[in-house]
Amino acid sequence: MTNSRLIPFTLCVAAGFALSACSPNTSSAPVEASAVVPAERFFTADQFTYANYQEVVVKHAALDLDVNFDRKVLDGAVTLRFERLTAGAQTLTLDTKDLLIKAVSLETKDGWMPADYTLADADPVLGSAMSIAIGADAEHVRIIYETSPTAEGLQWLTPAQTAGKKKPYLFSQAQAINARTMLPVQDTPAVRLTYEASLRVPDGLLPLMSASQDGQDDDGNWKFSMPQPIPSYLIAIAVGDIKFKAINDTIGVYAEEYILSAAAKEFAETPMMEVANTELYGPYRWGRYDLIVLPPSFPFGGMENPRLSFMTPTLIAGDKSLTNVVAHELAHSWSGNLVTNSNWRDAWLNEGFTSYVENRVMEELYGEGRAVMEQALDMEGLKRAISEAKRPELTHLKLPDDMEHPDDAFTLVSYIKGANFLFFLEDRFGREKFDPFLKAWFNDNAFQSVTTEDFIAYLHVNLHKDNLDALTRAELDAWVYGPGLPPTARTPESDAFEKVEFAWNTFSAGDGNISDLKKNANDWSTHEWLHFLSSLSNDKLGNAVTKEGMEQLDEAFELTGTQNAETAFAWYMQAIKVGYEPAMPELEKFLMSVGRGKFIYRLYGALKDNGQAEMANRIFAKAKAGYHPIAQRRISDILAE
Ligand SMILES: [Zn+2]
Repeated sequence: MTNSRLIPFTLCVAAGFALSACSPNTSSAPVEASAVVPAERFFTADQFTYANYQEVVVKHAALDLDVNFDRKVLDGAVTLRFERLTAGAQTLTLDTKDLLIKAVSLETKDGWMPADYTLADADPVLGSAMSIAIGADAEHVRIIYETSPTAEGLQWLTPAQTAGKKKPYLFSQAQAINARTMLPVQDTPAVRLTYEASLRVPDGLLPLMSASQDGQDDDGNWKFSMPQPIPSYLIAIAVGDIKFKAINDTIGVYAEEYILSAAAKEFAETPMMEVANTELYGPYRWGRYDLIVLPPSFPFGGMENPRLSFMTPTLIAGDKSLTNVVAHELAHSWSGNLVTNSNWRDAWLNEGFTSYVENRVMEELYGEGRAVMEQALDMEGLKRAISEAKRPELTHLKLPDDMEHPDDAFTLVSYIKGANFLFFLEDRFGREKFDPFLKAWFNDNAFQSVTTEDFIAYLHVNLHKDNLDALTRAELDAWVYGPGLPPTARTPESDAFEKVEFAWNTFSAGDGNISDLKKNANDWSTHEWLHFLSSLSNDKLGNAVTKEGMEQLDEAFELTGTQNAETAFAWYMQAIKVGYEPAMPELEKFLMSVGRGKFIYRLYGALKDNGQAEMANRIFAKAKAGYHPIAQRRISDILAE
């Protein structure tokens, strides 16, 4: 560093870190890298793990498990290979939650020997620390265990809860801290490990994992291997009456038969997304990329399990209008899976980057018009999320060190404020500089876990120091360490949305009739519909909709019962606010058949806030058994608040 103007910008001085953390270290840069990797990594302690990963770190897990649908447990063993980072370390500490530990042994020069271990009292969020005495030389520990039937990371569906109705189904969701309910592991994104697995499942069921699917051996064991090091939250399993359909040679879809063809059609443009991602940000490094469409109780839009994204069936709209979620999960192959937040306080490094990359890919494939509409819809959501935040610190990109649960990191602040910070940087530095910078970030930090401060140091060394006028330290701090949306945020301006607003204004002011509105809405996309529906109760845009208005809209556009889940959700939210009774039976059906948290958490919340707590409790009592354990916990909290 030669220019004194750098000093106020770099984190080194401001945060009291050693200056060397910001000095270039050209010698260690990978050959392909076009940029400079700062010499030291910053550290943020992960308060959601018991693991002593700074002393002893697990490098590989070999799972050997029976998938037992009768008892709803995974039953078997895991063998962990570990390395000592601190000489003389004698204890390996793992995270466990609701696991039944049966035996622990260490590999010694005399063979496998029983090992001493302790299991601490359980914390309701974190589970139990498991400390194993590892002696001086051992490198492998084997733990015989089984999971609990109520493990939060596993959902066991009865045949009746599947579409086919004949066979049971199991799927996992390890993010954020549920891997520890599936196996004893150092359950922090700061630790990366490779894994392999050998699974036994009942006849007629296909098991899949977030790994290379290596087929069945002569003894009937299904084999899996993940040679790239991943954080534990990306270990995933699905077992069911699952079929496969190829999209091309390296990309395909798994699903239950009923939705397989529709899913392959809906996701047919995934190969183009992979090309766009690769051109912008470098090679896809994971071998195959497949998608699995899960049963409707899957609580998320998608989960970026490597090589095998888990997807909700609510994306199958028939018109590819909701495939930005595919772009999102695929983008995680760079942001999140390749370069990972080392702490849930830095979740925006996963989700903000991914939301940014998703939008860039949507622009590449479908043009700026659609990309800007998606930005505008996201911005509406972000503003609402900021206004509803329980405290200002939860609207910082760098989240506070006293979050109650790591799930609190997964709000639109991490996703959309994070993406908008990158839009801001893109605008300030220009795409010609920002795109290669981001590509180099993914390349230079591939298979690493990083913190917000690592990104700031990298940004400074590789982009800002040669473009000092592009931004100030205060502007950067406002985005990363400040609350809400900074004044430097980009305002997405969509011509299409302006026309939608005009149409609603005219209609709601009584200056036009429903047939004029029908003419206007004739060729609206799902995005335009979503903006229209969110405008209905926005009193800045014409008059808020009345029950009579809802009736007219419903008659003209048949919104109640629509098969597009996003449109249905937006319509039912309005119906609840206005008290539009005719939509309620279909709303109930929706809540009974869809388990995606994005929809059902807010619908239950809206029912409760609009004097319909009784209805909310009644539907939840019926629907609960079909929801994922994560969703059950969240909705119980919402209704109890
Ligand atoms: Zn994501």
